[in-house]
Amino acid sequence: SLSDRLAGALKDLRGKGRLSPADIDATAREIRLALLEADVALPVVRTFINRIKERAKGAEVSGALNPAQQVVKIVNEELVAILGGETRRLRLAKNPPTVIMLAGLQGAGKTTLAGKLAKWLKGQGHTPLLVACDLQRPGAVTQLQVVGERAGVSVFAPHPGTSVGGGDNALGVSAADPIEVAKAGVEEARQKHFDVVVVDTAGRLGIDEELMRQAAGIRDAVQPDETLFVLDAMVGQDAVTTAEAFRDGVGFTGVVLTKLDGDARGGAALSVREITGQPILFASTGEKLEDFDVFHPDRMSSRILGMGDLLTLIEQAEQVYDAQQAEEAARKMGSGELTLEDFLEQMLAIRKMGPIGNLLGMLPGAGQMKDALAQVDDKQLDRVQAIIRGMTPGERANPKIINASRRLRIANGSGVSVSDVNQLVDRFFEARKMMSAMSRQFGMPGARGGTK
Ligand code: GDP
Ligand code: MG
Repeated sequence: SLSDRLAGALKDLRGKGRLSPADIDATAREIRLALLEADVALPVVRTFINRIKERAKGAEVSGALNPAQQVVKIVNEELVAILGGETRRLRLAKNPPTVIMLAGLQGAGKTTLAGKLAKWLKGQGHTPLLVACDLQRPGAVTQLQVVGERAGVSVFAPHPGTSVGGGDNALGVSAADPIEVAKAGVEEARQKHFDVVVVDTAGRLGIDEELMRQAAGIRDAVQPDETLFVLDAMVGQDAVTTAEAFRDGVGFTGVVLTKLDGDARGGAALSVREITGQPILFASTGEKLEDFDVFHPDRMSSRILGMGDLLTLIEQAEQVYDAQQAEEAARKMGSGELTLEDFLEQMLAIRKMGPIGNLLGMLPGAGQMKDALAQVDDKQLDRVQAIIRGMTPGERANPKIINASRRLRIANGSGVSVSDVNQLVDRFFEARKMMSAMSRQFGMPGARGGTK
């Protein structure tokens, strides 16, 4: 997979104290192959690789990061940039209803997305109305009605027969004309105070003029606030052609990637933003209505790099630690010389970085780390601090000497139970073991050239 290939390319840099131009070229070549294999569009690969090379060559020697970590950081930042940088939120109209039109090939996942969007919008306190404008495929209207029912939202659809009539949408428009249905749907929303309208449209198996004409007609009739181009992420290189055709034929303001659950390669995600100039707003990751989320470029990049949010952690570490301190801590962690004093310092430094919960997900091997850190919330950190402050300098430096009678004394002195002290000491030894293992595996901030 792309993740494995990228990790492989970057792994070779580990343990290098300095990167030569040849190292950078070799790494860039590996990354290039990985991207091409993942079906990323060629022009995008070129731009990406050039940026990486340029930045890696110009990278300054950092006090806090070793060269490998610096390259990982650059690759990550460029991945985020190519995925769109900041998370792009849905734009709502100042005067409701907000009109969202869905466009894309048949089978891309538009109708499913209509349900997902509706459910998501409803969860945000909106009152969406789904409008069925796919009158081409038999069963398409029913499919939208089923999806709407599942999402618990209203669906505006022409009745079987020749006109939109009867029931709650007696507007007398021809059921055969999706443009009329779209207009009537928006009018219905206006009258009945639905604040978002999602217009589902027909797609075809391939790009053709009739499809584009119809989509453009609906667009002109309802003047959408957002036109979302729905793209099946599994289509590989075809993604580019399709996206360009819809950009030129209909125009769109954002992209939704579907079937990301089935795409191990990530090529479409990396290409579409750069090729079309439009951001990815949402990602669909399954057939169920819940398999859907706002698209976050930084999270997608982490997913592609397969490194958790290691980089965020490194970045925050850069800010919090001064380089020398970090180097010393890394050396100690790596060599298993960590003292309780260091342990406390680390914990306090981590606290400065933000709520502990956020950090757990950022660590590679977070699963193991969780056991050691999961129970530590901010309140418990205060207790930990109290316990460690209640120890003698000798005990802090050499925790092995903390026997039963010392534990009792420490517990009494810091107003906690003996079992609290036991827990802390156990957790410390566990953490020390783990940090030393992690440090060997990844190289910690400040450990230049890794600590092998
Ligand atoms: P439309 O023709 O664009 O309206 O596409 P549909 O919404 O009918 O979806 C086509 C097929 O893709 C259906 O079988 C959906 O269940 C499936 N589908 C849609 N989105 C996803 C997704 O994110 N992941 C997976 N695995 N399947 C999806
Ligand atoms: Mg459909």
